[in-house]
Amino acid sequence: MAQLGSAVLWHETLAPQPPAAPADGELTADVVIVGAGFTGLWAAYHLTQSDPTLDVVVLDAHDLAVGASGRNGGFAMTLLDFNLHRFARTWGDDAAAHAHRAVARSVHQIDRTVREEGIDAELEATGLLRVATNDAQLARLDRDHETAQRLGLDGFRRLDAHRTRELLDSPSYRGGLLEDACAIVNPAKLVVGLAAVLRTRGVRIHGGSPVLDLSEADGRVTATTPRARVHADTAILATNAWTHRFPAARGWSVPLYTYVVATEPLSPDQWEAIGWQGRQGVEDARNLVHYFRPTADGRVLWGGTDAVYRYGGPISPRRDRHEAIRRRLEREFVTTFPQLGRVRFTHHWGGPISITSRFVPRIGRFGGGRVHYAFGYSGHGVAPAHTAGRILRDLVLGRDTDDTAVCFVDRDQPAFPPEPLTWIGAELTLQLLRRDDRRMEAGGHVGDPDPLLLRLVDRLDRG
Ligand SMILES: Cc1cc2nc3c(=O)[nH]c(=O)nc-3n(C[C@H](O)[C@H](O)[C@H](O)COP(=O)(O)OP(=O)(O)OC[C@H]3O[C@@H](n4cnc5c(N)ncnc54)[C@H](O)[C@@H]3O)c2cc1C
Repeated sequence: MAQLGSAVLWHETLAPQPPAAPADGELTADVVIVGAGFTGLWAAYHLTQSDPTLDVVVLDAHDLAVGASGRNGGFAMTLLDFNLHRFARTWGDDAAAHAHRAVARSVHQIDRTVREEGIDAELEATGLLRVATNDAQLARLDRDHETAQRLGLDGFRRLDAHRTRELLDSPSYRGGLLEDACAIVNPAKLVVGLAAVLRTRGVRIHGGSPVLDLSEADGRVTATTPRARVHADTAILATNAWTHRFPAARGWSVPLYTYVVATEPLSPDQWEAIGWQGRQGVEDARNLVHYFRPTADGRVLWGGTDAVYRYGGPISPRRDRHEAIRRRLEREFVTTFPQLGRVRFTHHWGGPISITSRFVPRIGRFGGGRVHYAFGYSGHGVAPAHTAGRILRDLVLGRDTDDTAVCFVDRDQPAFPPEPLTWIGAELTLQLLRRDDRRMEAGGHVGDPDPLLLRLVDRLDRG
């Protein structure tokens, strides 16, 4: 069983804990949840909140916080699709505003839950600062700001270069867009804290329990692991980047790797040199964004810049580092904040995210109706997984609610083609996105990201 790796900064902040024991033997439950990341845990949280008598079992292949939920940047943010403008263009203003509000509600609810349940997740509700380093990125911020205003969404403020640099000082910043609905958290502490709350509610959480088969028969679902069979009325598949491994969901998503580095704790002088007193989470407006944030112990976590798809979509601890991306991230950090002088980087890690062909989450149920699923957050799942948890609760309990009316619920999406087509498409797409990032930096005009692979899949589907 994979253990918590020392390279992930967040894992070092966890109190020592025994691994979650594997499931053993024949078990029964009302609901069996496959995957103990944010999707699975929030679904269990909302279900047991609504109906404390529900008997819920959660099975994970690994130990707690090993998956993306325990190793991400920790931005609980509202983003769906590449940006708000593209999301509204694709789904229409009303649907986009409705979905955005559902996720913004999650940002606030995560904050409230953490406080009410006494979870120490180092949560800081500081907002999201999107920065632009060139004209094309400024145009993107303008489009998103205009879209937010048109949709009647509160809490967005466009900032000029001066005000942006007052918030966080880099000579490359030309402007910003501040969004209130964002919090930064220590994601591993949130996973472990949430699991602890669930255990007090009687939820059984098992690690080292990879589900090899999920089958429906005679009005029941059975999840089979190497050592156990769990029989339940309903199941939830919450395996995000791993979802394509389940035969019924083959081609529904592809796993992509994203990577981060973390600095040593900065000195008080270094903090003063960059400002950042508001401690916002920050992203730029590239296609392949940089995302970065301060940590509770005074470091900067800095990630993004590129993403990697590998033939066939393998996921393994061997992929958790990427030396070329690590070097590039470190170089770009120094270029962005030259006033910091020498900074040592102490941590580097990465993990798999899940991309769907519409670049929005996919939430629904398989044919028989007893297995529900939610995945495909495109690297922005911390808050949307909470929203997905609410939606999964409503689907399991058979309720039609404001949440189940979100535009991408129960909506099929075109499938990715078999290899080598997906690999070729992904490689070409990433190269075009990188080229457009360079073009924008050189002063060229580039509109919204327009990933070739997603366009191809769409075309094949319609053809
Ligand atoms: C480096 C990195 C940085 C990121 N930064 C951010 C960020 O700042 N903000 C943001 O919103 N999002 C971010 N993300 C994305 C975010 O982490 C995910 O969208 C979110 O955690 C998805 O949660 P999940 O529960 O659906 O998936 P996961 O957390 O990946 O959980 C899926 C679980 O399923 C388990 N599993 C898989 N197969 C099986 C099986 N057969 N049987 C049993 N269990 C199985 C896995 O072990 C895993 O624990 C980042 C991701 C990475 C990798």
